[in-house]
Amino acid sequence: MDNRNIDIAGVAISPDHYIDGRRVASAETFELFSPIDQRLLGRVSEGLDEHVDAAIRAAAQAFPAWSALDAATRKPYLDRFAAEIGKRADALCQVESNDAGVLLSRMRHGVVPRAMLNITWFAEHALTLQQRPIETEQAHHRVRHDPAGVVVIITPWNAPLMLSTWKLGPALAAGNCCVLKPPEWAPLTCSLLADAAHAAGLPPGVFNVVQGTGARAGAKLVSDPRIARVSFTGSVPTAKWIAQAAGANLVPCSLELGGKSPFIVLDDADLDNAAATGALMYRNAGQVCLAGTRFLVHERIAERFIDTMRGYVERLNIGDPRDEATEVGPIIHPRQVERVNGFVERAVAGGARLLWGGQPHPFGAQYYQPTMLTNLQQHDEIVQNEVFGPVLTLQTFASDEEAIALANGTDYGLGGVCYGAQDHAVAVADRVRTGFIWVNSFGIRDLAAPFGGIKRSGIGREGGDWSFEFFCDVKDIVVPKKPFRASFSQR
Ligand code: NAD
Repeated sequence: MDNRNIDIAGVAISPDHYIDGRRVASAETFELFSPIDQRLLGRVSEGLDEHVDAAIRAAAQAFPAWSALDAATRKPYLDRFAAEIGKRADALCQVESNDAGVLLSRMRHGVVPRAMLNITWFAEHALTLQQRPIETEQAHHRVRHDPAGVVVIITPWNAPLMLSTWKLGPALAAGNCCVLKPPEWAPLTCSLLADAAHAAGLPPGVFNVVQGTGARAGAKLVSDPRIARVSFTGSVPTAKWIAQAAGANLVPCSLELGGKSPFIVLDDADLDNAAATGALMYRNAGQVCLAGTRFLVHERIAERFIDTMRGYVERLNIGDPRDEATEVGPIIHPRQVERVNGFVERAVAGGARLLWGGQPHPFGAQYYQPTMLTNLQQHDEIVQNEVFGPVLTLQTFASDEEAIALANGTDYGLGGVCYGAQDHAVAVADRVRTGFIWVNSFGIRDLAAPFGGIKRSGIGREGGDWSFEFFCDVKDIVVPKKPFRASFSQR
């Protein structure tokens, strides 16, 4: 075992890059701490210019051979990749729980199975890509989905394994070669992904990992003119920077960004169900892009709804994410705790009223009480900006029109939740301007469905065919049905 490796619960994790099928150490490293108890987990290689250059070169060199395979030949590689992820399930659970603070139970039952499916589902779906002819009166159009080239994937810390595989699956299945830059606050499960890819026999250069900070490794990767695509999930300010850097080379970006999604409770909603789902918005300590964080509740039922939801929130178990009974774990980083607390303090100073929470949680320095604020104006900072912590807001409305206006009254447009009698809720959901919205439910995700946001929540869609539209160059090969004879009078 390499003595540079980081040890978490007996799992050895390489802190280094994975480039061209080999581990590469850096002369510079950065410290990594656990959100659970702030203990130093180890030091991780910083991605310097030379590593970015080597990774893109390796991916570009691997591209001709990998892209020349048909999807059916690539599929067994990817199925083996998923199987190797499965063999590492316990390690991945322990490591992401310690590194990112994600609940161990959620890793085991949700994230790891989904990470495997992210690889196998897209490998299977890629088989259908080249079989979609368009027949017109004049011509037979053979529509090809050709791999684009070197794809840069950049992911955030709140769901590193899930989001990395969500992008790697379709990118690799389509025949691209990838460079993944994991989040510097939670980079370790992406290192284990490299081990899985290696064990699965993915050819060198097809999948590379460059560790490092966003400002150095990330910025250098997205600015490189040799890349063909950037798939990014993260915050709005970073996305603007990336879009400019990649845009300078006309490199297309898929941007999955933050949210300030409405959670609408209509007057004919099943209040108990809505309140139970409401408490789920504290999952992952509220560090979930798609959570409904702005509660919009009909004034007639608001008091009853608040009391019911308070009951669910009071029963939440806050603590160590490795404990099976825990339902809400820590916030990722001391800076993020400060940010969350700052939002709450400014809101209260500005006249907001706390319905519950509002303080750091006694369990530890990086834990925060599930919090709900009310007595708010639509233009308030806490209503308009993403907190990305366990802090929700509640406003009331008197009519559907008002609910829809409030729901649409921010610059974000990622998701939403709408509780009410089915037809009523669907009619309201139709008019909420977001990339998706759940009716009388939350969190149902299917890999065939589109995912992404509008307005400041992002550009583009991933999932199903949409992932392939992004990761591929779509080409139309036009073959006329009748003999073609050139003529200037032809339209
Ligand atoms: P972030 O934007 O700070 O960082 C995301 C990634 O970008 C990290 O890997 C970081 O190293 C990298 N990065 C930072 N600066 C960069 C630069 N100049 N060039 C290239 N890369 C750079 O976001 P975060 O704080 O890690 O994550 C939280 C954000 O992510 C929230 O806004 C959340 O809503 C969003 N998010 C969105 C989704 C979605 O699917 N829409 C999912 C999860 C999280």
